[in-house]
Amino acid sequence: MKYVSTRGSAPALDFAEVTLAGLASDGGLYVPESWPQLGMDEIRDMRGLPYAELAARVMAPFVGDSLTPDRLRELTGEAYSRFAHTAVTPLVQLDERQWLLELFHGPTLAFKDVALQLLGLLFEEFLAREDSRLTIVGATSGDTGSAAIDAVAGRDNVEIFMLHPKGRVSDVQRRQMTTVRAPNVHNIAIEGSFDDAQAMVKRIFADESVTARHRIGAVNSINWARLMAQVVYYFAASLQLGGPDRKLAFSVPTGNFGDVFAGHVAARMGLPIERLIVATNVNDILHRALSNGDYSAGNVTPTGAPSMDIQVSSNFERLLFDVGGRDGVALGDQMRGFEGSRAMMLSNAQREGAAGLFASARVDEDETAASIRYAYENWGEIIDPHTAIGLHAARHADLAPQVPVVTLATAHPAKFRDAVERATGIRPPLPNRVGDLFAREEAYTELSGTYEAVRDHILEHAA
Ligand SMILES: *Cc1c(COP(=O)(O)O)cnc(C)c1O
Repeated sequence: MKYVSTRGSAPALDFAEVTLAGLASDGGLYVPESWPQLGMDEIRDMRGLPYAELAARVMAPFVGDSLTPDRLRELTGEAYSRFAHTAVTPLVQLDERQWLLELFHGPTLAFKDVALQLLGLLFEEFLAREDSRLTIVGATSGDTGSAAIDAVAGRDNVEIFMLHPKGRVSDVQRRQMTTVRAPNVHNIAIEGSFDDAQAMVKRIFADESVTARHRIGAVNSINWARLMAQVVYYFAASLQLGGPDRKLAFSVPTGNFGDVFAGHVAARMGLPIERLIVATNVNDILHRALSNGDYSAGNVTPTGAPSMDIQVSSNFERLLFDVGGRDGVALGDQMRGFEGSRAMMLSNAQREGAAGLFASARVDEDETAASIRYAYENWGEIIDPHTAIGLHAARHADLAPQVPVVTLATAHPAKFRDAVERATGIRPPLPNRVGDLFAREEAYTELSGTYEAVRDHILEHAA
């Protein structure tokens, strides 16, 4: 399997290379050259498999020759052994129609663990082969940071610099990053928003004063391997609810468009999916883009669902590439125009291409709190604000009544317990697997919001 850039001018890479590369050298994102196809019988044959085995089967065509089937199975087995539920991503039934797919049973309590526990192992595997080192630079709205740090802390040949927007992540999220004591972990709090941090990370990848001295890697969902790992749970949920012989809809709390893009990939591979609902908070650029073609970034409004406080959704570029005729040169021009003005209109081909599978909804702060309350009062379920946004969109979706709707439960409620307590009066306890988080000492560097300050800090401290 080869991977090509959405902007058409970076070299094609294989899976091992694309995992270590992150962003393409032309500023684009890597996508598979073509979508592997699974027939209905092949999908039916996957019913009842343990999660790690299902993961190895779904990922095998994307991994290609980069790992033997046995080695891939060993790695998925190891990655998913650290989950607190044996089903890894269990389904919970809410009523005759609504389901939750719980993606938060990993070590850091959000769905990011599903991909990052594997990515940490892939980094180690591919770096050891080349006897080289990787300096990971990432930006986090909260959950990627903790999941990535957990996945690479203490591992050989990798170090990580993680930027988070100061004061805009929850205390649990921050402590899960800043209390990890490993010499290869560097936490940085910057003045500004997640978008500011993400823009700096993209500049680091393009800055020769850094890339000439360090091989820079990505753990954000610009890294293809993350999306690939997330495709698996769309299959897992579908197979349990009658797939592939019955179509489901998925409602996905969305920020950077990574998780829901994985659903698009599952559909492209042949999994029958009725609808993918992109649920946003008031930072609603994706809802505007999908409903009327207006992809223009405003300022980020901080909300109780901080992992979705994003205006510029990196992975949307992958969708535009795939549904807009896969014309990298044209998309490169369009995206560079967007980067200059922070606004663009989607082409008709892009709008029509997305409209077949995607719907969208914008959920405000009051609706989010009401959704948390609704789940508790009607079903006795305590859900986090991100999940609540997905569930609100799921309950109000325009779908035939026989279509089951699966909301992706992206975070454990204890990770956002202040918001949950405000809505329900109940303060969800932290599960034992996070340990004595509030007794441990924090360590992080605060930097001003300038690019130079971040770059110089990385150059000074990278091994
Ligand atoms: C990252 C995250 C999201 C958004 O996922 P994307 O892949 O960026 O769209 C939603 N909810 C939670 C809890 C998250 O951590």
